[in-house]
Amino acid sequence: MTEQSVTADVLVIGGGAIGLSVAWRAGERGLRAVVLERGAVGRGTSHYAAGMLAPVAEVTPGEEPLLELGLRSARLYPRFVAELAQAASVDSVGYTTSGTLLVARDADEAEALERELALRQRFGLPVERLRASEARQREPGLAPALRLALDVPGDHAVDPRMLVPALAVAVAAAGGEVREHTPVAGVALTGGRIQGVVLQDGSTVRGEQVVIAAGVWSPQLSGLPEADRIPVRPIKGQIMRLHDPAGPGLLQRVIRMGPTYITPRGDGRYVLGATSEERGFDTTVTAGAAFELLRDATELVPGVSELVVDEFAAGLRPGTPDNLPVIGPGSVEGLHWATGHRRGGILLAPVTADLVAGALVGEALPEEAVAFAPSRFAALAVGGGAS
Ligand SMILES: Cc1cc2nc3c(=O)[nH]c(=O)nc-3n(C[C@H](O)[C@H](O)[C@H](O)COP(=O)(O)OP(=O)(O)OC[C@H]3O[C@@H](n4cnc5c(N)ncnc54)[C@H](O)[C@@H]3O)c2cc1C
Repeated sequence: MTEQSVTADVLVIGGGAIGLSVAWRAGERGLRAVVLERGAVGRGTSHYAAGMLAPVAEVTPGEEPLLELGLRSARLYPRFVAELAQAASVDSVGYTTSGTLLVARDADEAEALERELALRQRFGLPVERLRASEARQREPGLAPALRLALDVPGDHAVDPRMLVPALAVAVAAAGGEVREHTPVAGVALTGGRIQGVVLQDGSTVRGEQVVIAAGVWSPQLSGLPEADRIPVRPIKGQIMRLHDPAGPGLLQRVIRMGPTYITPRGDGRYVLGATSEERGFDTTVTAGAAFELLRDATELVPGVSELVVDEFAAGLRPGTPDNLPVIGPGSVEGLHWATGHRRGGILLAPVTADLVAGALVGEALPEEAVAFAPSRFAALAVGGGAS
């Protein structure tokens, strides 16, 4: 078995939004981080994300730790994108701060939206109830037939297709390296300690510490200890990209109605999503999904029917059984996890990067991060695996 001459304090498996963010922040803490990406960076799930930064719009009863983590990450975003733009020498990474509207079309949806309002008020989250006419004053592109809306002024968006390439540049600027077209077969362990990774060509790469950030493909890595069999599964999302030949102006805010959303990029481009399907690693797109997304979106914003379709594709959200991400040290020395971010990996990239970079330099994870510890799945793994 050959050994590659790479000197790395940290090997990060996976060059998506999460792995690159971790590697960048680790580099800033003085560690030399090498990202090993089997294809081109940012072509995994991060390529498909709408980029909504929506902890308030997406709050779900029973997922309070995720709400706290999401709010914390949203607060980090302005600084994260400013530092990133500087590190990558780019003008912008597509961060827009126009807020979000949740809307209801009929009496049933309005009733459901009132419940959503009550939930957010219970958590003390900033939300404003709007009559349909008030919502249309703020967003004239909305359909006249709406019943009710909630303004969520703090839920913003970023363009993942600008964010991720900037992160790759920032990793190198912080003294690290991104190795594309370098598939990893698994981790190398000796005597209960990480030694590095084994590449698919059979060679080994040594590293003091290894971060698994391979998204939905993380469980496919070989050599993992039994207690680190993390049950990440793919949740398919079909999503459409469009643009307005007339330029920007149709919408300022993200518009959401149940699982359907229209995310404006601020420059005349729009992202329309998304389905949520349990279909394994299938990434085909269907006529039915296109129909439903466009039907709902044009009912909300009739001007959507004038947009030009640029792309219709499917990505795979990395889901876990409890819908929480997997962040922190694994069961053996030198092994760390940063995956399972499901529908929030773009939002959660800054906070995940800070937590994992901290752990890499020996800091203990804060108390509130216990809910995300990889060890919560150890019992499942030992008991014969999770579904
Ligand atoms: C339709 C859709 C809409 C979404 N919208 C949003 C949103 O609005 N806001 C939000 O916050 N999140 C959103 N998400 C979720 C978000 O995309 C994910 O949570 C996030 O991209 C996960 O990032 P990641 O870096 O963990 O995974 P990925 O981006 O998948 O990165 C993992 C990388 O690991 C590489 N890899 C895998 N195996 C190996 C190996 N063996 N060796 C080397 N490299 C390997 C892959 O090639 C890939 O590049 C959405 C997802 C989908 C599908």
